[in-house]
Amino acid sequence: MQIVVDLNRCQGYAQCVFLAPRVFELHGEEALMYAPAVPGEQHEHVRRAAAACPVQAILVGEPAGDGVASSGAGDGRAGVDGR
Ligand code: SF4
Repeated sequence: MQIVVDLNRCQGYAQCVFLAPRVFELHGEEALMYAPAVPGEQHEHVRRAAAACPVQAILVGEPAGDGVASSGAGDGRAGVDGR
């Protein structure tokens, strides 16, 4: 599983940090750090974190060739452009 956090949207609410502390970490008030490649045991935590994010800044994607079709749930991709 790969994730991208739209840091332009992220407001530092830290819901994700609370739900998946091994993946998301907040430095200071707004600097969110995260691991883009999520290990298997963290998938469920990350899905919950993505669902709980008040501004839906966490985008979850399944890598191709994983053998698991994307459920499409919550896939509200809105043209994330890092820069
Ligand atoms: S829950 Fe959403 S807004 Fe809050 S820190 Fe995580 S990504 Fe940012």
